[in-house]
Amino acid sequence: MRLLLSLLLSLFLSACTHSPSEKIMVYAWMGGPGDATDQEIGAQFANLKQKGVDALLYNGGHNPEVYQRVGEIAKAQGLKFHAWIPTLLQGKNDQLKAEYYVVNSNGESALEKPAYVGYYTFLCPSHEGVFHYLENIYLNVAKVPSIDGVHLDYIRFPDVILARGLWEKYGLTMDREYPEFDYCYCSKCTDDFAEQSGININEVEDPSQVEEWKQFRRNLITNLVNRLAQSVLESGKEITAAVFPGPHSVASQIVRQEWDLWNLDAVFPMNYNDFYLEDAAWVGDVTREGVESLGGKFPLYSGLFICPDPENRHKQADPENHGLTPDELRVAIKASMDNGAAGICLFTPGRMTDAHWTALRETIYAN
Ligand SMILES: [Zn+2]
Repeated sequence: MRLLLSLLLSLFLSACTHSPSEKIMVYAWMGGPGDATDQEIGAQFANLKQKGVDALLYNGGHNPEVYQRVGEIAKAQGLKFHAWIPTLLQGKNDQLKAEYYVVNSNGESALEKPAYVGYYTFLCPSHEGVFHYLENIYLNVAKVPSIDGVHLDYIRFPDVILARGLWEKYGLTMDREYPEFDYCYCSKCTDDFAEQSGININEVEDPSQVEEWKQFRRNLITNLVNRLAQSVLESGKEITAAVFPGPHSVASQIVRQEWDLWNLDAVFPMNYNDFYLEDAAWVGDVTREGVESLGGKFPLYSGLFICPDPENRHKQADPENHGLTPDELRVAIKASMDNGAAGICLFTPGRMTDAHWTALRETIYAN
Protein backbone atom coordinates (compact mmCIF):
# COMPACT_ATOMS: atom_id res chain seq x y z
CA MET A 1 0.00 0.00 0.00
CA ARG A 2 2.82 2.33 0.92
CA LEU A 3 4.54 1.51 -2.35
CA LEU A 4 1.41 2.39 -4.26
CA LEU A 5 1.06 5.70 -2.44
CA SER A 6 4.68 6.42 -3.12
CA LEU A 7 4.17 5.71 -6.81
CA LEU A 8 1.10 7.94 -6.95
CA LEU A 9 2.97 10.72 -5.23
CA SER A 10 5.85 10.42 -7.70
CA LEU A 11 3.40 10.64 -10.59
CA PHE A 12 1.79 13.65 -8.99
CA LEU A 13 5.16 15.31 -8.51
CA SER A 14 6.33 14.63 -12.05
CA ALA A 15 3.07 16.06 -13.37
CA CYS A 16 3.77 19.21 -11.44
CA THR A 17 5.50 21.96 -13.36
CA HIS A 18 7.44 23.08 -10.29
CA SER A 19 10.84 21.74 -9.32
CA PRO A 20 11.10 20.09 -5.88
CA SER A 21 13.00 23.15 -4.65
CA GLU A 22 9.78 25.15 -5.02
CA LYS A 23 8.02 22.97 -2.51
CA ILE A 24 7.14 24.81 0.68
CA MET A 25 9.29 23.58 3.56
CA VAL A 26 7.17 21.74 6.14
CA TYR A 27 8.31 21.12 9.69
CA ALA A 28 6.25 19.31 12.33
CA TRP A 29 6.30 19.28 16.12
CA MET A 30 5.83 15.80 17.52
CA GLY A 31 6.74 13.70 20.53
CA GLY A 32 7.69 10.10 21.23
CA PRO A 33 8.84 7.42 21.00
CA GLY A 34 7.05 5.75 23.94
CA ASP A 35 7.09 1.99 23.42
CA ALA A 36 7.25 2.16 19.62
CA THR A 37 9.65 -0.21 17.86
CA ASP A 38 12.16 0.98 15.26
CA GLN A 39 9.92 -0.47 12.54
CA GLU A 40 6.87 1.39 13.85
CA ILE A 41 8.74 4.68 14.05
CA GLY A 42 10.17 4.10 10.56
CA ALA A 43 6.71 3.48 9.12
CA GLN A 44 5.35 6.60 10.86
CA PHE A 45 8.18 8.76 9.52
CA ALA A 46 7.93 7.32 6.00
CA ASN A 47 4.26 8.19 6.04
CA LEU A 48 4.94 11.78 7.15
CA LYS A 49 7.64 12.21 4.52
CA GLN A 50 5.28 10.97 1.86
CA LYS A 51 2.65 13.46 2.98
CA GLY A 52 5.03 16.39 2.55
CA VAL A 53 6.76 16.75 5.91
CA ASP A 54 10.48 17.57 5.52
CA ALA A 55 11.71 17.99 9.08
CA LEU A 56 10.76 17.03 12.63
CA LEU A 57 11.04 18.95 15.88
CA TYR A 58 10.96 15.91 18.09
CA ASN A 59 10.36 15.88 21.83
CA GLY A 60 11.84 12.74 23.36
CA GLY A 61 12.91 13.84 26.86
CA HIS A 62 16.49 14.60 27.90
CA ASN A 63 18.22 11.32 27.08
CA PRO A 64 20.69 11.66 24.15
CA GLU A 65 20.37 7.93 23.36
CA VAL A 66 16.69 8.37 22.49
CA TYR A 67 17.55 11.13 20.00
CA GLN A 68 20.36 9.04 18.51
CA ARG A 69 18.03 6.11 17.94
CA VAL A 70 15.05 8.07 16.61
CA GLY A 71 17.28 10.49 14.68
CA GLU A 72 18.86 7.64 12.74
CA ILE A 73 15.41 6.41 11.73
CA ALA A 74 14.42 9.94 10.66
CA LYS A 75 17.60 10.30 8.58
CA ALA A 76 16.91 6.98 6.88
CA GLN A 77 13.55 8.39 5.79
CA GLY A 78 15.14 11.59 4.51
CA LEU A 79 13.80 13.82 7.31
CA LYS A 80 15.71 16.60 9.03
CA PHE A 81 15.67 15.97 12.76
CA HIS A 82 15.84 18.42 15.66
CA ALA A 83 15.61 17.61 19.36
CA TRP A 84 12.73 19.65 20.81
CA ILE A 85 13.37 20.15 24.53
CA PRO A 86 11.52 22.57 26.84
CA THR A 87 13.93 25.12 28.32
CA LEU A 88 12.75 27.02 31.40
CA LEU A 89 9.80 24.71 32.06
CA GLN A 90 11.35 22.00 34.23
CA GLY A 91 9.69 19.76 36.77
CA LYS A 92 11.07 19.03 40.22
CA ASN A 93 14.49 17.49 39.91
CA ASP A 94 17.38 16.66 42.24
CA GLN A 95 19.75 18.83 40.23
CA LEU A 96 17.56 21.91 40.56
CA LYS A 97 17.46 23.88 43.80
CA ALA A 98 14.10 25.22 44.97
CA GLU A 99 15.48 28.77 44.71
CA TYR A 100 16.00 28.30 40.95
CA TYR A 101 12.27 28.52 40.27
CA VAL A 102 10.55 31.82 39.48
CA VAL A 103 8.70 33.75 42.18
CA ASN A 104 5.66 35.96 41.47
CA SER A 105 5.02 39.48 42.71
CA ASN A 106 3.13 38.04 45.70
CA GLY A 107 6.28 36.13 46.74
CA GLU A 108 4.94 32.70 45.71
CA SER A 109 7.31 30.20 44.07
CA ALA A 110 6.17 28.50 40.85
CA LEU A 111 7.55 25.28 42.28
CA GLU A 112 5.03 25.30 45.14
CA LYS A 113 2.20 27.28 43.60
CA PRO A 114 2.39 27.31 39.80
CA ALA A 115 0.16 29.71 37.84
CA TYR A 116 -2.73 28.40 35.72
CA VAL A 117 -1.76 24.71 35.57
CA GLY A 118 0.19 22.28 37.74
CA TYR A 119 3.04 21.87 35.27
CA TYR A 120 3.88 25.61 35.10
CA THR A 121 7.07 25.14 37.13
CA PHE A 122 9.33 27.64 35.38
CA LEU A 123 12.98 28.23 36.20
CA CYS A 124 14.40 31.72 36.71
CA PRO A 125 16.89 32.75 34.01
CA SER A 126 18.97 34.83 36.48
CA HIS A 127 20.72 31.91 38.13
CA GLU A 128 24.05 30.60 36.84
CA GLY A 129 23.01 27.16 38.08
CA VAL A 130 20.01 27.26 35.73
CA PHE A 131 22.18 28.18 32.76
CA HIS A 132 24.63 25.37 33.47
CA TYR A 133 21.85 22.84 33.97
CA LEU A 134 20.31 23.77 30.61
CA GLU A 135 23.60 24.08 28.77
CA ASN A 136 24.46 20.57 29.90
CA ILE A 137 21.16 19.15 28.60
CA TYR A 138 21.41 20.84 25.19
CA LEU A 139 25.11 20.13 24.68
CA ASN A 140 24.70 16.45 25.54
CA VAL A 141 21.95 16.18 22.97
CA ALA A 142 23.75 18.39 20.41
CA LYS A 143 26.62 15.87 20.43
CA VAL A 144 24.35 13.16 19.04
CA PRO A 145 25.47 12.52 15.43
CA SER A 146 21.97 11.84 14.06
CA ILE A 147 20.46 15.21 14.99
CA ASP A 148 20.61 18.44 13.01
CA GLY A 149 20.00 20.73 15.95
CA VAL A 150 18.22 21.51 19.20
CA HIS A 151 14.91 23.32 19.52
CA LEU A 152 14.11 25.48 22.55
CA ASP A 153 10.57 25.82 23.87
CA TYR A 154 9.07 27.50 26.97
CA ILE A 155 11.99 29.89 26.67
CA ARG A 156 10.09 32.64 28.43
CA PHE A 157 8.40 33.73 31.65
CA PRO A 158 4.94 32.37 32.52
CA ASP A 159 2.25 34.34 30.65
CA VAL A 160 1.80 37.59 32.59
CA ILE A 161 -1.26 38.04 30.42
CA LEU A 162 -2.98 35.01 28.97
CA ALA A 163 -3.91 34.97 25.27
CA ARG A 164 -7.44 36.38 24.91
CA GLY A 165 -8.89 33.07 23.73
CA LEU A 166 -7.90 31.39 27.01
CA TRP A 167 -9.52 33.79 29.47
CA GLU A 168 -12.81 31.89 29.66
CA LYS A 169 -11.10 28.54 30.07
CA TYR A 170 -9.28 29.80 33.15
CA GLY A 171 -12.09 32.10 34.36
CA LEU A 172 -9.83 35.16 34.21
CA THR A 173 -10.08 38.70 32.92
CA MET A 174 -6.52 39.69 32.18
CA ASP A 175 -6.94 43.33 31.28
CA ARG A 176 -3.60 44.21 32.86
CA GLU A 177 -0.60 42.56 34.55
CA TYR A 178 -1.70 41.03 37.87
CA PRO A 179 0.85 40.26 40.64
CA GLU A 180 -0.12 36.59 40.82
CA PHE A 181 1.06 36.03 37.24
CA ASP A 182 3.95 38.51 37.19
CA TYR A 183 7.42 36.91 37.46
CA CYS A 184 10.25 36.95 38.59
CA TYR A 185 10.61 38.60 41.99
CA CYS A 186 13.20 36.23 43.43
CA SER A 187 15.95 37.98 45.41
CA LYS A 188 18.49 37.44 42.60
CA CYS A 189 16.28 39.21 40.05
CA THR A 190 15.21 42.07 42.31
CA ASP A 191 18.74 42.62 43.70
CA ASP A 192 20.31 42.59 40.24
CA PHE A 193 17.67 45.01 39.00
CA ALA A 194 18.22 47.34 41.97
CA GLU A 195 21.94 47.34 41.33
CA GLN A 196 21.47 48.08 37.65
CA SER A 197 18.67 50.66 37.85
CA GLY A 198 18.70 52.01 41.41
CA ILE A 199 15.03 50.93 41.72
CA ASN A 200 13.84 48.66 44.53
CA ILE A 201 10.97 47.05 42.64
CA ASN A 202 9.47 45.64 45.86
CA GLU A 203 8.81 49.19 47.02
CA VAL A 204 7.10 50.27 43.82
CA GLU A 205 3.32 50.42 44.15
CA ASP A 206 2.59 49.25 40.60
CA PRO A 207 5.61 47.45 39.06
CA SER A 208 3.66 46.91 35.83
CA GLN A 209 4.18 50.61 35.08
CA VAL A 210 7.98 50.40 35.29
CA GLU A 211 9.29 49.94 31.73
CA GLU A 212 12.91 49.34 32.84
CA TRP A 213 11.75 46.40 34.93
CA LYS A 214 10.00 44.83 31.94
CA GLN A 215 13.05 45.41 29.80
CA PHE A 216 15.34 43.94 32.45
CA ARG A 217 13.38 40.69 32.33
CA ARG A 218 13.23 40.60 28.51
CA ASN A 219 17.01 40.96 28.58
CA LEU A 220 17.32 38.02 30.99
CA ILE A 221 15.62 35.76 28.45
CA THR A 222 17.60 37.18 25.53
CA ASN A 223 20.89 36.72 27.40
CA LEU A 224 20.05 33.14 28.31
CA VAL A 225 19.13 32.28 24.71
CA ASN A 226 22.25 33.88 23.32
CA ARG A 227 24.52 32.10 25.79
CA LEU A 228 22.91 28.76 24.94
CA ALA A 229 23.14 29.61 21.25
CA GLN A 230 26.86 30.31 21.57
CA SER A 231 27.47 26.95 23.24
CA VAL A 232 25.40 25.01 20.71
CA LEU A 233 26.98 26.86 17.79
CA GLU A 234 30.40 25.69 18.97
CA SER A 235 29.11 22.11 18.83
CA GLY A 236 28.40 22.60 15.11
CA LYS A 237 24.65 22.03 15.40
CA GLU A 238 21.73 24.36 14.79
CA ILE A 239 19.65 26.01 17.49
CA THR A 240 16.07 27.18 16.95
CA ALA A 241 13.13 28.10 19.18
CA ALA A 242 9.35 27.94 19.44
CA VAL A 243 8.12 31.40 20.41
CA PHE A 244 4.95 33.43 20.82
CA PRO A 245 3.74 35.46 17.82
CA GLY A 246 5.08 38.93 17.17
CA PRO A 247 7.60 39.66 18.58
CA HIS A 248 6.20 43.11 19.49
CA SER A 249 2.43 42.59 19.26
CA VAL A 250 2.26 39.50 21.49
CA ALA A 251 5.50 37.79 22.61
CA SER A 252 7.23 40.79 24.12
CA GLN A 253 4.10 41.85 25.99
CA ILE A 254 2.75 38.63 27.41
CA VAL A 255 5.79 36.38 27.88
CA ARG A 256 8.69 38.89 27.67
CA GLN A 257 10.29 37.42 24.56
CA GLU A 258 12.18 39.80 22.26
CA TRP A 259 13.08 37.04 19.86
CA ASP A 260 14.19 39.36 17.08
CA LEU A 261 17.26 39.96 19.27
CA TRP A 262 18.11 36.28 19.66
CA ASN A 263 21.02 34.64 17.83
CA LEU A 264 19.30 31.59 16.42
CA ASP A 265 19.35 29.62 13.18
CA ALA A 266 15.57 29.91 12.82
CA VAL A 267 12.49 30.82 14.80
CA PHE A 268 9.09 29.12 14.90
CA PRO A 269 6.37 31.51 16.13
CA MET A 270 3.30 29.65 17.33
CA ASN A 271 0.89 31.65 15.17
CA TYR A 272 -2.10 29.96 16.75
CA ASN A 273 -4.84 32.33 15.64
CA ASP A 274 -7.63 30.71 17.65
CA PHE A 275 -5.82 31.42 20.91
CA TYR A 276 -6.02 35.12 20.06
CA LEU A 277 -9.59 34.96 18.68
CA GLU A 278 -8.25 35.81 15.24
CA ASP A 279 -8.92 34.30 11.82
CA ALA A 280 -6.50 32.44 9.56
CA ALA A 281 -5.56 35.64 7.66
CA TRP A 282 -4.07 37.02 10.91
CA VAL A 283 -1.33 34.41 10.55
CA GLY A 284 -0.09 36.48 7.59
CA ASP A 285 -0.11 39.71 9.62
CA VAL A 286 2.02 38.28 12.45
CA THR A 287 4.29 36.52 9.97
CA ARG A 288 4.98 39.86 8.30
CA GLU A 289 5.64 41.49 11.66
CA GLY A 290 8.14 38.76 12.55
CA VAL A 291 9.90 38.73 9.19
CA GLU A 292 10.22 42.52 9.17
CA SER A 293 11.50 42.56 12.75
CA LEU A 294 14.15 39.98 11.91
CA GLY A 295 15.29 41.90 8.84
CA GLY A 296 16.76 38.77 7.28
CA LYS A 297 18.79 37.80 10.36
CA PHE A 298 17.46 34.23 10.22
CA PRO A 299 14.44 32.44 8.73
CA LEU A 300 11.00 32.28 10.28
CA TYR A 301 8.76 29.21 10.03
CA SER A 302 5.11 29.88 10.72
CA GLY A 303 3.72 27.56 13.42
CA LEU A 304 0.17 26.42 12.61
CA PHE A 305 -2.29 24.93 15.12
CA ILE A 306 -4.40 22.22 13.55
CA CYS A 307 -7.98 21.46 14.55
CA PRO A 308 -8.22 17.70 15.22
CA ASP A 309 -11.99 17.50 14.63
CA PRO A 310 -13.05 20.28 12.24
CA GLU A 311 -16.68 19.17 11.99
CA ASN A 312 -17.29 19.53 15.70
CA ARG A 313 -15.00 22.45 16.32
CA HIS A 314 -17.76 24.93 17.20
CA LYS A 315 -19.17 22.59 19.83
CA GLN A 316 -15.83 22.57 21.63
CA ALA A 317 -15.43 25.09 24.44
CA ASP A 318 -11.75 24.35 25.01
CA PRO A 319 -9.48 26.35 22.66
CA GLU A 320 -7.04 23.41 22.72
CA ASN A 321 -9.58 21.64 20.50
CA HIS A 322 -9.88 24.57 18.09
CA GLY A 323 -7.41 25.35 15.33
CA LEU A 324 -7.26 25.48 11.56
CA THR A 325 -9.79 23.58 9.47
CA PRO A 326 -8.51 22.19 6.15
CA ASP A 327 -9.69 25.27 4.25
CA GLU A 328 -8.18 27.58 6.85
CA LEU A 329 -4.93 25.64 6.64
CA ARG A 330 -4.68 26.59 2.96
CA VAL A 331 -5.30 30.24 3.87
CA ALA A 332 -2.74 30.18 6.71
CA ILE A 333 -0.02 28.54 4.60
CA LYS A 334 -0.53 30.98 1.76
CA ALA A 335 -0.67 33.96 4.13
CA SER A 336 2.55 32.80 5.84
CA MET A 337 4.44 32.38 2.57
CA ASP A 338 3.10 35.59 1.02
CA ASN A 339 4.43 37.46 4.04
CA GLY A 340 7.95 36.11 3.98
CA ALA A 341 7.95 32.85 5.96
CA ALA A 342 10.61 30.32 4.96
CA GLY A 343 8.08 27.54 5.49
CA ILE A 344 5.52 26.27 7.97
CA CYS A 345 5.43 24.03 11.03
CA LEU A 346 2.47 21.83 11.94
CA PHE A 347 1.19 21.40 15.48
CA THR A 348 0.78 18.51 15.13
CA PRO A 349 0.79 15.82 12.42
CA GLY A 350 -1.30 13.71 14.80
CA ARG A 351 -4.07 16.34 14.71
CA MET A 352 -4.21 16.36 10.88
CA THR A 353 -7.30 14.76 9.28
CA ASP A 354 -7.23 13.29 5.78
CA ALA A 355 -8.76 16.52 4.51
CA HIS A 356 -5.95 18.51 6.17
CA TRP A 357 -3.33 16.36 4.41
CA THR A 358 -5.08 16.90 1.10
CA ALA A 359 -5.18 20.65 1.71
CA LEU A 360 -1.50 20.60 2.68
CA ARG A 361 -0.47 18.66 -0.41
CA GLU A 362 -2.45 20.92 -2.70
CA THR A 363 -0.87 24.03 -1.17
CA ILE A 364 2.77 23.16 -0.59
CA TYR A 365 3.47 22.17 -4.20
CA ALA A 366 1.56 25.11 -5.70
CA ASN A 367 2.65 28.70 -6.09
ZN1 LIG B 1 14.36 35.40 39.47
